[in-house]
Amino acid sequence: MSLDGKIVLVTGGSRGIGRAICLHLAAQGATVGINYVSNSIAAEEVLAEITAQGGKGFLSGFDVADSKAVQKAIKEITAEQGGVDILVNNAGITRDGLVARMKDDDWDAVLNTNLKGAFTCSKAAMRGMMKKRWGRIINITSVVGFLGNAGQVNYASAKAGLVGLTKSMARELAGRKVTVNCVAPGYIVTDMTSDLSEDIKEKIKAEIPMATLGTPEDVAGAVAYLASDESGYMTGQTLHVNGGMYMGN
Ligand code: NAP
Repeated sequence: MSLDGKIVLVTGGSRGIGRAICLHLAAQGATVGINYVSNSIAAEEVLAEITAQGGKGFLSGFDVADSKAVQKAIKEITAEQGGVDILVNNAGITRDGLVARMKDDDWDAVLNTNLKGAFTCSKAAMRGMMKKRWGRIINITSVVGFLGNAGQVNYASAKAGLVGLTKSMARELAGRKVTVNCVAPGYIVTDMTSDLSEDIKEKIKAEIPMATLGTPEDVAGAVAYLASDESGYMTGQTLHVNGGMYMGN
């Protein structure tokens, strides 16, 4: 699967799943834009790793929840790189709490980053894809968007919302050969899950037929397929990468 000549933007590319996606797509020949919101050092390390393996990339720091900043960044990338061919909406946060105690701020922060961020980035990037009659938008949702999770009403709502966004955009953009799909990871070892206690991790593993948490690289492989020409007749779909934890669709 070659991505030679393609320009990629991975939101939240500085750490965890986003970092693995950046490295994987750069290894396929793409020029990869590494977005981050605050951790410029981590983003620079990802760029250095890409360059060390003979790949190409660039940094693009902006907050996906800030629509003006998103528009400005995508304009700059378009001017400097010639557009975004493949957008991976991966940036995400958690602000967990039971519904009864959840503050409006925690709801708004998670919805603004995890759902509105994907809408704003897609809206800004899709025009160039439509003109080129080729594009890929890949939204990183979560198993939690399908199963629900006590303590994560904001996160689960945003992730389930991404599935609706994906299907609607897939219908709007299909005629221009722009595909829009989701990858839904299960529990993956990253900073986001590092706070889970060993007890909780054991309980989660008991729900996973493969009895282990996934790696960022497991997710990156599914993203690489959806980014490629090989997936060209597939749109509005979700690829589940969860060790068998959830098998529905
Ligand atoms: P992570 O290790 O916490 O990394 C989060 C990334 O998102 C960082 O690069 C961070 O940038 C960036 N980010 C956060 N808010 C941002 C904003 N407002 N604008 C731009 N970038 C922002 O998370 P992860 O575990 O890799 O998760 C990546 C995605 O996969 C998320 O959408 C998450 O919901 C989803 N997911 C994760 C799991 C899991 O088990 N880990 C499971 C299912 C789905 P900085 O480095 O600058 O902070």
